[in-house]
Amino acid sequence: MKTLIDTLRHHHELKPAQYRALLMTRDSQVVEYLMTQAREVAQAHYGTGIYLRGLIELSNMCRNDCLYCGIRRSNRHVSRYTLTREQVLACCEQGYKLGFRTFVLQGGEWGEERSQWIADLVSDIRRGWPDCAITLSLGEHPRETYAMWREAGANRYLLRHETHNERLYGLLHPRGMTIGHRLQCLEWLKELGYQVGAGIMVGSPFQSLASMVEDIQYLVQFKPQMIGIGPFIPQHDTPLARFPAGSVDMTARLYAIMRLALPWSLIPSTTAMATLSPDGRLRGILAGANVVMPNLSPEDHRKQYALYDNKAALGAESAQGIQALDNELSTIGYHIDWSRGDSPNW
Ligand code: SAM
Repeated sequence: MKTLIDTLRHHHELKPAQYRALLMTRDSQVVEYLMTQAREVAQAHYGTGIYLRGLIELSNMCRNDCLYCGIRRSNRHVSRYTLTREQVLACCEQGYKLGFRTFVLQGGEWGEERSQWIADLVSDIRRGWPDCAITLSLGEHPRETYAMWREAGANRYLLRHETHNERLYGLLHPRGMTIGHRLQCLEWLKELGYQVGAGIMVGSPFQSLASMVEDIQYLVQFKPQMIGIGPFIPQHDTPLARFPAGSVDMTARLYAIMRLALPWSLIPSTTAMATLSPDGRLRGILAGANVVMPNLSPEDHRKQYALYDNKAALGAESAQGIQALDNELSTIGYHIDWSRGDSPNW
């Protein structure tokens, strides 16, 4: 098994059965070896610095109805909000003072009639903080919309593909949403010159090892600059409320595998990791992740962006808790890297 990990480290690819063996193994020494190799590769490329992204949860209004998501359209228990332009700019102002050099605007998916409003907002942020990266994570849109936002000054786009497997995609999403269209969006984003992030939820209902292997293979072939992977966590008002959460261990294995497959990628240790376990964020970093995305949203709206139950938004997960985060990182020999943190092979 260690030979497999060495092969992945040096050739950046394995056969499907070999990925499967790495995901399945119960041998703790093999898992530890995988983590050590991933850490070494992350440190060889990025040192022990962890990049920060300031997450601004723009709106929980969504036209989609993804079965796992707490802000899905048909969840009537959500009190809906959209930040005003002034509120978003105030988040950027505060974030910039705290030292953030990337702002991530994430939200539910809106209709195209609001796309110009987003473009204007992106232009305002670009003008106000010209040295910062602007990342959007606003779902699926026509190519022209992505082009308009890019033109307005957006640099990066996060759009998890969620699962590459067509059948599983169908089980997690309403009729009308297809993996084919999701992948098409990712292609457009890449063509338009965005730094692109793709990725999955780990342990989502009906997911199999085979589908995870398919996801690894897709990511290896698509080569996104950013890889967003987090455990599935149930939300009590969704149709998938009764399913168990995914595991921190399996998510960490995927971070490690992706770090070895795509050494230069930017991999966040996600909020869902921190939500599931007090040491989840650090375990992600020890598996080769090199990004953390503290929450910069106005505090009175954070509870309304409840994608899943008990979502962490305070302490080291919040922009205001940045010192706590730095302290936490220092316990494992890491520190915050305050630079903008673009992928160097970009
Ligand atoms: N609307 C945009 C989109 O679909 O890409 C961005 C917002 S969406 C809420 C951001 C991510 O949250 C999704 O890509 C999904 O992977 C994650 N998410 C949603 N519900 C989740 C859950 N129950 N557990 C874990 N992650 C979840």
